[in-house]
Amino acid sequence: MKAKKRVPYQYVLFDLDDTLYPRAAGLMNVISDRILQYMTHRVGIPADDASLKKRDYFQRYGTTLQGLMREYGIDPVDYLDYVHDVNPRDYFGASPPLDNMLAEIPLRKVIFTNADTAHSRRVLDTLRVQHHFELICDVQVRNYTSKPDLEAYHQLLNSLNVPAESCIMVDDRARNLFPAKDLGMTTILVDSDRQSLGIDYAVPTVFHVGKILRQLLHNSYLS
Ligand SMILES: [Mg+2]
Repeated sequence: MKAKKRVPYQYVLFDLDDTLYPRAAGLMNVISDRILQYMTHRVGIPADDASLKKRDYFQRYGTTLQGLMREYGIDPVDYLDYVHDVNPRDYFGASPPLDNMLAEIPLRKVIFTNADTAHSRRVLDTLRVQHHFELICDVQVRNYTSKPDLEAYHQLLNSLNVPAESCIMVDDRARNLFPAKDLGMTTILVDSDRQSLGIDYAVPTVFHVGKILRQLLHNSYLS
């Protein structure tokens, strides 16, 4: 019996923060602190409650932003400007190895992030890899729907106008990859030393993604 031919790969969807640069760079820790500052200074949540609420919003709504919008009606633009008021150059620099790896991937590349486009551009400019990405699918173009909300994935797939099976998604959080996998995408977990159940591949750094993609493309040409 002839095997069913798989849908050809077209896109790699890259998460931004803690995926294109290492968690150890520390940028996300600073953003996380600024989120707490926003909650206490701008929204007026008592400092003692802020951490707990932040964790609760992350679990219940996917992001703190979603929780603050729903429960406090905050202005999302003000929030995104405030929490991302950091200079990535203070945490990392240009990455020629990442640039080279991306150049060797013969697929279209997109950023799929819960941050905003201004922050994404600053990160991509700092790494000097912005020219590889044809689209930044940020939280604002998705009308503030965030990973892992399924709606965020549908909005991206609609804007690309491709089936989920033609996409490979790369993210440092397993919970963001589960909906992608359910939809039919191939999933790669970055910054992980162990395989997660329900994820296709786990790699220690983003630099290992190129090799996985070469294997995937090689196998799909053979099938
Ligand atoms: Mg991330």
